[in-house]
Amino acid sequence: MTERIYAPWRIEYILDKEKEPGCVFCNRATSSEDEKHLIVHRAEGAFTIMNKFPYTNGHVLVCPYKHVSDISELDSEENGLLLEEVLRAISVLRDVMHPSGLNVGVNLGVDAGAGIHEHLHYHVVPRWRGDTNIMAVLADVKVIPEHFVSASRKLRAGFNRLFPETARKVEKCD
Ligand SMILES: [Zn+2]
Repeated sequence: MTERIYAPWRIEYILDKEKEPGCVFCNRATSSEDEKHLIVHRAEGAFTIMNKFPYTNGHVLVCPYKHVSDISELDSEENGLLLEEVLRAISVLRDVMHPSGLNVGVNLGVDAGAGIHEHLHYHVVPRWRGDTNIMAVLADVKVIPEHFVSASRKLRAGFNRLFPETARKVEKCD
């Protein structure tokens, strides 16, 4: 992130993340309740899920099904599948939300800023000129769930439209 975005609901994440037993990504990947968990697409090797504590509306995380903490623990094929899903997420966000820019990246380790450091994930963050101001409007935490539901529906529809051939019903964690 080159520019700090005002995202006060992230404090809820910091307070909340100790409560769930197990790995939050593995728990969601092995569940069949994709809508509830805001998983917007499943492909071979990787899936895309809304970040529940986003920097901007449409901020998604792309995770391998495999529970690893570092890209070096994936072989080249697994990294390829993960990156393909990152590229799909970028295409869908561009198509559905028309950002003027995107931040794409991965934080390896707690000291690099990884909130869930035990399970690798790419951040794909749509950006708009002046979006720090837009996010101030979203600072009312009561409006956030509505944004998730509506954004996740739009993104799921976008994935289905642009990449129907990659969608997989179920893929379990290793
Ligand atoms: Zn995991």
